Amino acid sequence: MVSLDPSGIYEELGASPVINAIGSLTLLGGSTPPTEVKEAMEAAESAYVPMTELQERAGEYIANLTNVPAAYVTSGAGSALTLVTAALMAGDDDSKIQQLPDTTGIKNEILIQRRRRYWYDRCLELAGAKLVEFGSDGKTTPSDLERAIGPNTIAVHCFVQEESVDEYSLSLEQTLKVASSAHLPVTVDAAGQIYPLENIGKYVRMGADFQCVATKYIGAPQSTGLALGSKDLIAKLALQSFASYEGRKVRGVGRPQKLDRQEIIGAVAAVKRWFSLNHEERLDNAELRSKIIISLLQGIPGVDASLITNVVGHNAFGVKLKVDSAVTGINHDYIVNSLKQANPPIWTRVREGEEFIDLHVYGLAEGQEVIVGEAISNLFI
Ligand SMILES: *Cc1c(COP(=O)(O)O)cnc(C)c1O
Repeated sequence: MVSLDPSGIYEELGASPVINAIGSLTLLGGSTPPTEVKEAMEAAESAYVPMTELQERAGEYIANLTNVPAAYVTSGAGSALTLVTAALMAGDDDSKIQQLPDTTGIKNEILIQRRRRYWYDRCLELAGAKLVEFGSDGKTTPSDLERAIGPNTIAVHCFVQEESVDEYSLSLEQTLKVASSAHLPVTVDAAGQIYPLENIGKYVRMGADFQCVATKYIGAPQSTGLALGSKDLIAKLALQSFASYEGRKVRGVGRPQKLDRQEIIGAVAAVKRWFSLNHEERLDNAELRSKIIISLLQGIPGVDASLITNVVGHNAFGVKLKVDSAVTGINHDYIVNSLKQANPPIWTRVREGEEFIDLHVYGLAEGQEVIVGEAISNLFI
């Protein structure tokens, strides 16, 4: 046995811990659960508990806090997306639940607008559903959606990002209107919409049948997520879960998307904390730490570090770092790569479609904002 030294638990394995200046990133670990969450998780270990019952009680508790009819803790928001599609296809028919992901004889098409395809929409297909695009790269209209509805359509999916609204795409309001006149359910990926608080559940209250939340963004273990929705749909989603597979002896596709009791309790504790947190303080802190990075990058010719002032969603505040390579002799890729080679390595990124380095403090331990600012500034010496 290796005796793992807590101060060097990763090094002892030969894995390299890094400084995370990107934000909540699944690839690096997603979140650092705060004390309240860790304590609740540890307390959960003190006993075994029937998982079906725990899921029901946890769901009721979260539904109550988020002001929606029903909720369910899932293995990440990704699993919520997979389970809801399975629920939409199989309903409460046990033979269909056991048939998926084979969809022979089962309606399986989910409409998604071309302008709102996104990285995680693959999760909607894993249970056997098929994504069918509507609209074009240009402006998407209600009639684009109306025309796309066919005999195999089971739902319309909408990815919502209030921090960067796309005015050429069909809005959720318009989507809900068309879908409701066609009696089709609407599923919403609102995984990152964790602030303002009312957004957690808002899309269900607007009329969607489902919205997922990624609890990695609120300090839960990153392996957890939430499905929020109507009582009927969430009850059907529960039939697809690992707990139902074991408890009811009906083998649904959700079996590999297991959660531990500690994780379920961790998600509950994180939601509870999030709804009682002083968000002004949280945002002030993110602003202050972002400004510390900026202050360390002032006065360097060709370097423009400015404050990102967004507070909506999971990426509150941050630093937009633009480097003029003609003046400095180095470009963004070089900076990102050099920081990764540093000791300790610092992870930053240029997001797809953007032309600046996007720094966020969510994943930084106290004081690391200074290390990040100084390490970047040293690249220009
Ligand atoms: C992170 C994220 C997901 C996936 O959530 P997990 O909890 O990591 O499975 C899905 N959709 C969006 C928009 C996300 O940001």
